[in-house]
Amino acid sequence: MSAGAASLRNIPSVDEVLKTSVAVAAVELFGRPAVVKAVRATLAEMRGKMRGNAVRAVEPTDVAEEARAKLEFDARPKVRAVFNLSGTVLHTNLGRAQLAEVAVEAATAAMREAIALEFDIGEGKRGERDELIRELLCELTGAEAATVVNNNAAAVLIVLNTLAKGRESIVSRGELIEIGGAFRMPEIMSRAGTKLVEVGTTNRTHEKDYLGAIGSKTGLILKVHTSNYRIEGFTKEVKADKLAAIARKHKVPLVNDLGSGVLIDLAKFGLSHEQTVAEAVAEGADIVTFSGDKLLGGPQAGFIVGSKELIARINKNPMKRALRVDKIRLAALEATLRLYRDPDRLAAALPTLRFLARKKSGIEAAAKRLLPAFVKAVGADFEVAVTSCASQVGSGSLPQETVQSAGISIRAKGGSGRAIAALSSSFRALPTPVIGHIEEQALIFDLRCLEREDDFVRNLAALKPGEKP
Ligand SMILES: *Cc1c(COP(=O)(O)O)cnc(C)c1O
Repeated sequence: MSAGAASLRNIPSVDEVLKTSVAVAAVELFGRPAVVKAVRATLAEMRGKMRGNAVRAVEPTDVAEEARAKLEFDARPKVRAVFNLSGTVLHTNLGRAQLAEVAVEAATAAMREAIALEFDIGEGKRGERDELIRELLCELTGAEAATVVNNNAAAVLIVLNTLAKGRESIVSRGELIEIGGAFRMPEIMSRAGTKLVEVGTTNRTHEKDYLGAIGSKTGLILKVHTSNYRIEGFTKEVKADKLAAIARKHKVPLVNDLGSGVLIDLAKFGLSHEQTVAEAVAEGADIVTFSGDKLLGGPQAGFIVGSKELIARINKNPMKRALRVDKIRLAALEATLRLYRDPDRLAAALPTLRFLARKKSGIEAAAKRLLPAFVKAVGADFEVAVTSCASQVGSGSLPQETVQSAGISIRAKGGSGRAIAALSSSFRALPTPVIGHIEEQALIFDLRCLEREDDFVRNLAALKPGEKP
């Protein structure tokens, strides 16, 4: 008899494993079929490992424990909360804006209950879903009319398709943007069925460039906010108020894609002033488009505000049906927009602004409080210190702007980049993954967006340097 065959007899049967108290408890949690499958998989792995190796008996409980660990690992949701200590407040890869508590409650209620989504409660007949937030949007932007679609990319697509299909759209070469995730203005234009007419040069576009391009085929003039970059030096752009005059004179609409929709003066929160939607409307744009989940701080959405006649045409486009938003987001949008009626309490209620408005001194104090927990978690191989850093707004909002912040920096003693990369993965392997960034061989955690410090410390205590997610 070979050593391998002897060892296999020391492995318990599926039934023996299922009788253990660990397996019985696992069946309660995960159901019998899943537990049986996990036990079989665990036994198969053990047989593989034991073949040819030294004989060692395996207890049924050991198998059950391992199977349960597999099931627990598998049961972790793929959509998981993380601690965003990346230093980017609106991180597209981390879901952009975190919603206000009132928005979360409104969305939850809309999920659980039947709601008057397209139902006029006063009249007892069919209504329009956009009506739910139209008034608020008009009030906050000064626009005549408003509508909402899936995101701002969709807003630009449907506006171009409605107003300029089969016709020309005039854009400055300095504004032919690409936003992350393959949103390129020339490609969106072609999909919208409009012909791109580029005017000016990368750094300079004049009024005469627009005037020379306007003709009988012009569908619209498009102004695009260069959200994620700045052209500096010898530059010239035609401001939207000037473009509005040109557009009016030639009876073509001016569309202004603002990107990040700002509804209040950000200077109040210590940031630089970014043109608000109301200002863009007041300059004379016929249509203004902006995002729901950038600086506005709401769920993903694309707002289109402007003239009554043009919004009515956009709403009649069959694309509108394909790009509409669901009840959950409408509920969250309404609750978010309502917060803007009280600007004094906005920063307290809206996480995006609350994070951005935090002063460096307060964040530094948090870093000092948390330093011992970090030191204890990473162990003696690393040097941990409170550090100054600079947060970014993110999602192409205020690209030039950084906000003075503070956090924790961790370096490997001996300065190995590999040790820091490995430590960074073990932070991601935590029950709630912690996301930082690496800069000059240091792992940096910007604490601007950290609020639940107690939860954070409890989570950090589970850190096992060397573990991978
Ligand atoms: C972000 C952005 C978009 C795309 O908006 P989403 O809401 O991400 O779809 C379009 N245009 C500009 C100028 C932007 O900054």
